[in-house]
Amino acid sequence: MGIDFFKVEDALKEAYMRGETRFNAYTVAFWSNQSDILAVNNYLLSKNGNVLEARIEFLCDENNHPTGSIKFGEKIPPSITCHICQNEFIPSLEFSNIIFNFSNPLSRSSTKQEKKKLQLVT
Ligand SMILES: [Zn+2]
Repeated sequence: MGIDFFKVEDALKEAYMRGETRFNAYTVAFWSNQSDILAVNNYLLSKNGNVLEARIEFLCDENNHPTGSIKFGEKIPPSITCHICQNEFIPSLEFSNIIFNFSNPLSRSSTKQEKKKLQLVT
């Protein structure tokens, strides 16, 4: 299975213009109508440090709360205290999500300006 990189790029551009933050491969696959989540994830990871910033978010082992994110490639801390339920747990990559943000997100005001520009064009 492959993915349509053009559709993924378009979806990312649109997400950027909307001012999206904190998305994952599932979200991007949904936006771009792709079914190969792993390929989308690998593609997003290839943009880490360039357009995107990838982080690993661990799941609290008691309640599955997403908490304690680290930069992708950063050392995993020996323990994390969940910021929601205060449960202390040993983070494991098996129970983690990879999440993405834009390295240089548009500020709210510029998002509005860009949106206005877009409306003028269409
Ligand atoms: Zn928790």
